[in-house]
Amino acid sequence: MQKIAVIAGDGIGTEVMPEGLRVLRAVAERFGLALRFDEFDFAHCRYYEQHGQMLPDDWKDRIGGHDAIFFGAVGWPATVPDHVSLWGSLLKFRREFDQFVNLRPARLLPGVRSPLAGRGPGDIDMWIVRENTEGEYSSVGGRMYAGTEREIVIQETVMSRVGVDRVLHFAFELAASRPRARLTSATKSNGIAITMPYWDERVEAMAAQYPGVAVDKFHIDILCAHFVQRPQHFDVVVASNLFGDILSDLGPACTGTIAVAPSANLNPTREWPSLFEPVHGSAPDIAGKGIANPIGQIWAGAMMLDFLGHRAAHDAVMAAIEAVLADPAAPRTPDLGGTASCAQLGEAIARAARIAR
Ligand code: ATP
Ligand code: MG
Repeated sequence: MQKIAVIAGDGIGTEVMPEGLRVLRAVAERFGLALRFDEFDFAHCRYYEQHGQMLPDDWKDRIGGHDAIFFGAVGWPATVPDHVSLWGSLLKFRREFDQFVNLRPARLLPGVRSPLAGRGPGDIDMWIVRENTEGEYSSVGGRMYAGTEREIVIQETVMSRVGVDRVLHFAFELAASRPRARLTSATKSNGIAITMPYWDERVEAMAAQYPGVAVDKFHIDILCAHFVQRPQHFDVVVASNLFGDILSDLGPACTGTIAVAPSANLNPTREWPSLFEPVHGSAPDIAGKGIANPIGQIWAGAMMLDFLGHRAAHDAVMAAIEAVLADPAAPRTPDLGGTASCAQLGEAIARAARIAR
């Protein structure tokens, strides 16, 4: 029995989550998977309004023993500032559960228009692996002579050998498992001349252990240009926390609507649960209308199935998403140019998932 902690969160999180669960339950039944879904009513801003914090004190005991966390979206800026809701929930999970890899696919699906002219399915199919715990996002530094003409502000980048190697190892393993077996590393070693060359050095050291993986290195600026101009080149792209943050938004943006993209915060050692969520946020502007696109949540569910060892069920969910998107007669939410509801699209994908490939 694998236990999944379900946290729908705020806004459209509460609308797309039931559709994610509907599809997961459909494939669990079809493939005979022993999955248990435990829903938790915290880590959302309604909880904060009642309790003055996003999580109960014993949150770690309550979800830390689960195999995975299936998450919707967090944030309701009208009542709780975003940094409070985010730091009080998702970022706590990331840190306390040592989710040191952020993994996002950027894959162009049928029936979704890429903003890149002339690009169709097959042209963009990559994974972006972001270091999720150290690097540029450190709190090492400070301010001197504050408020005076001599004011100086310093913030350090932290790279540890363990921290760099564990995310590179994950990225090389992923690349080695893919048909094209290409790994691209993003740095800026001409400008950031201490930490970035160190990252390059670790990439080279690890590349020697993966002779089957084709490795290339780009500076972040030109890499962003290549993402737009020749996205078909990329297979697995690995980067430090800051550069990975940028690329993991840019990649999915190249594939069209952000509503379809998923994201995983992984603890590959499996000491703690990993977390699977859509890339999009709580989208207050459309919340409560029942028109959110549930595909990001459903795809996040597929990633979770894969991580939990259920490859065939993952493939069935992906085939179902693609079949529905490719069918002009199938329901479409407004962001995809249709008039269907969140639930209608979710139902169509769940139905397809019962029979797909
Ligand atoms: P963040 O997650 O960084 O807080 P945000 O809250 O500004 O970002 P989102 O909530 O992701 O952004 O929404 C950005 C825009 O995309 C909004 O206009 C929203 O309506 C739209 N959007 C986001 N998710 C979906 C979805 N699942 N279906 C349809 N539209 C969506
Ligand atoms: Mg938001």
